[in-house]
Amino acid sequence: MRLIDMHCDTLWALMRKKEEDLKNNTCAIDVEKLKTADCLAQFFACFIYMDDFQGENRFTQAYEYALEMIAYAKQEISTYPGEMALATSIEEIEQNRKEQVISSLLTIEESGILDNDMGRLERLYAEGIRLLTLTWNYENCIGSPNSRDISIMQQGLKPFGKEVVERMNQLGMLVDVSHLSDGGFWDVIEHSKEPILASHSNARALCPHPRNLSDEMIRALAEKGGIAGLNLYPYFIHESGKITLDDIAEHVAHMYRIGGEDVLSIGTDFDGFDEGTSEIVHMGQMEQLYEAIKKRGFTDRQMEKIWYKNALRIMKQI
Ligand SMILES: [Zn+2]
Repeated sequence: MRLIDMHCDTLWALMRKKEEDLKNNTCAIDVEKLKTADCLAQFFACFIYMDDFQGENRFTQAYEYALEMIAYAKQEISTYPGEMALATSIEEIEQNRKEQVISSLLTIEESGILDNDMGRLERLYAEGIRLLTLTWNYENCIGSPNSRDISIMQQGLKPFGKEVVERMNQLGMLVDVSHLSDGGFWDVIEHSKEPILASHSNARALCPHPRNLSDEMIRALAEKGGIAGLNLYPYFIHESGKITLDDIAEHVAHMYRIGGEDVLSIGTDFDGFDEGTSEIVHMGQMEQLYEAIKKRGFTDRQMEKIWYKNALRIMKQI
């Protein structure tokens, strides 16, 4: 079954292990594993860890690092021309599909690197970035992160954050609310003219982590035509951090009951975590997850939507 994974941190992992590459690595994702998973498109996050940057101009340093990461990603992807290719549009994804090449889409995770400068958003778009995760786990020029602290969790988007959402709508970029505060989530729901997504977030009703989505949020995402990508990080599936394939399938079943079949998608978060224990630890095992979810009574048509068609739909629309 064709697959679109809306989120992984493999680039970040590879940037730290210079002796490894997209094909030969110790990561959860590599070219062969993507083939095993029958991957149509993989979203690669350029994740920026702000703790790595200090001083007054740390956001500028981080922005420059993001540009380096984009260049590195493009170089890695272009190393395997018959197997991987960059995609910046639905047409390119279709073209790559015809050539049996896996599409790679680039995203930014930590949009604080914009540092109130809309010119940087334009540049990132020109560089091929098609999705921005508005915050990571720190406050930035756009808004506040998810938090167990209610006062932080209620914080909405900042004025620049609202401008960014508007400009992303105009450019045709995917607005990603994973990691954002609840207040920010509701502001994006209100201000975005296009469907939005939570690229890698699960159901809070089953696992009460602030990174997950409440039932109200899942419903609002669905009503807006958006999607939520199933995250495989054990601590976002179950508080114990010890999970089975069936525990993961339970989140899909719950999100389906709340938001319907059009809201479901995949955002593995592979290479973005190493804590917890799980029955699925790399991209080559997606078939097993597919079977575990299908056992819940989903039809082939619904599984197609979860695995790639819902993601394709939102990309087409935007
Ligand atoms: Zn993340």
